[in-house]
Amino acid sequence: MKTDFRGINTREVALIEGSAGWGEFSPFVEYDENESIPWLISAIEGATQPRAKATRKYIDINATLPAVDTRAEVENILSWYPGATTVKIKVGSGAEQDLTRIKYVNEILPHASLRLDVNGSWNVEEALEFIYGFYDSFDEDLLQYIEQPCATIEELRDLKAACMVPVKIAGDEVIRKAEDPFDLDLEDAVDVLILKAAPLGGIERSLALTAHYRLPVVVSSALESAVGIGHGIRLAGALPSLDFACGLATGQLLASDIANIPIEGGKMRVADVTPSEASMIEFEASAERTQWWQDRVRNTWSAGADEIIGEMGWHW
Ligand SMILES: [Mg+2]
Repeated sequence: MKTDFRGINTREVALIEGSAGWGEFSPFVEYDENESIPWLISAIEGATQPRAKATRKYIDINATLPAVDTRAEVENILSWYPGATTVKIKVGSGAEQDLTRIKYVNEILPHASLRLDVNGSWNVEEALEFIYGFYDSFDEDLLQYIEQPCATIEELRDLKAACMVPVKIAGDEVIRKAEDPFDLDLEDAVDVLILKAAPLGGIERSLALTAHYRLPVVVSSALESAVGIGHGIRLAGALPSLDFACGLATGQLLASDIANIPIEGGKMRVADVTPSEASMIEFEASAERTQWWQDRVRNTWSAGADEIIGEMGWHW
């Protein structure tokens, strides 16, 4: 990674080649086999299943700004996303630092729409206080939504009921960490659904979730390599409607990647991504680490991925 993001500075991934191309299995290393199941389903889908039909040629992307504190860092990171007119800002590290980071973004890109991602770290009172502070300092039209201000659906609902200013709430962890993401009561709690192909079990399941909840969606990454991002791009390409920029440009946070996905004018093209052989050799893991990942695939498979894939009726 070029910069620390969610506490990590190295991203490990396993790539699987199958009859349809490449799939990526990259649950964060601390995830157990149960939490890794949807990631494996998504990887197998990418490697073996026919490509979803694309309904658009290009997708808009947003800039993703980690919780950095100086204006120079903010300016540098924003320059990695040429043409982006939406910025997702990590907040939750302290109201003063957060508002300063937002102020820098607003100075550097005064017309950019802002998304704030809290990763569920506020309680309802903290969220309200922050939102009112934001509206005191910035134009309300700047704020597209707040992503997961509080951890639970109940808190999100309480927040929406208590909030005296208009604000949209996006749900990320509530859905991707749910035991059954299809069985949630999101009414009056979530306005926008964050879709991440890998933790939701792939494109087919993400499209089914979209149809199930009938909410506007934002396709975002789980900080994958270019192969996993490619799967996210295919999901974004296949959605019947897509009103928001996608958080799929996080490859810009990597110091190097296994394929180059160009960003031009704030957009990415909907196209298949093939990893470069040279970079796969360059970034090959040690024999010991490879063994660890192979064991992880086996354990995740037998922890329940096998049954779900059986139900999906996939063959390869
Ligand atoms: Mg998030």
